[in-house]
Amino acid sequence: MPNYRAYINVPCLSEDELEEVARVLESGVLTTKDSSGPYVTRFEREFANFVGAKHAVAVCNGTAALHAALLALGVGPGDEVIVPSFTFVATAEAVALTGATPVFADIDLGTYCIDPEDVRAKLTPRTKAIIAVHLYGLPADMGALLDLAEERGLYVVEDAAQAHGAEYAGRKVGSIGHVACFSFYGSKIVTTGEGGMVTTNDDEIAERLRMVRNHGERGA
Ligand SMILES: *Cc1c(COP(=O)(O)O)cnc(C)c1O
Repeated sequence: MPNYRAYINVPCLSEDELEEVARVLESGVLTTKDSSGPYVTRFEREFANFVGAKHAVAVCNGTAALHAALLALGVGPGDEVIVPSFTFVATAEAVALTGATPVFADIDLGTYCIDPEDVRAKLTPRTKAIIAVHLYGLPADMGALLDLAEERGLYVVEDAAQAHGAEYAGRKVGSIGHVACFSFYGSKIVTTGEGGMVTTNDDEIAERLRMVRNHGERGA
């Protein structure tokens, strides 16, 4: 077997984590009918507290988090979603998965994040949402984006896949936009191997997210 420990992005896993994983496997509860076992439910609660959001809904990866968030907002064919031209491909891919069209806006060279002025230039009557990616842990200019969204009746989705724990104006990312998405892929700041989380302060969006996650079933 190659020596994977010599690679970059080697996950840091402690004895504690190995013991907890063994405990889950030994318990036999790998899931429940509510689609998340006790550990996932606890992780959701603690993650929501960590980012300062009311709800956290766990999914299988960050791409699914973005897809679920857009579906929960009602994004679909005929809609346009503005995304930064410089990001990981999944940001635009999730828009395409809903049948909507990704529209690329330029980035601000100071932050490498989406430029609110170029977002304004890309708005059309079909624009339904903006995805702000907090790239390399640097938060996007959420104040300007939320002002623009309010002015035009749009949603702001945070792609925080690379920004767990980052702060903007004294608040953690994941609690600022209408809905936010995290990844727990092996090379991210926090990992579960594969995993994702959607956070929101909106009860209705949270309810729809849980339905999207669980084949349309309520209360899951
Ligand atoms: C990693 C990443 C994703 C996708 O997350 P996966 O868990 O790999 O599906 C989405 N957006 C950004 C900015 C990412 O870095």
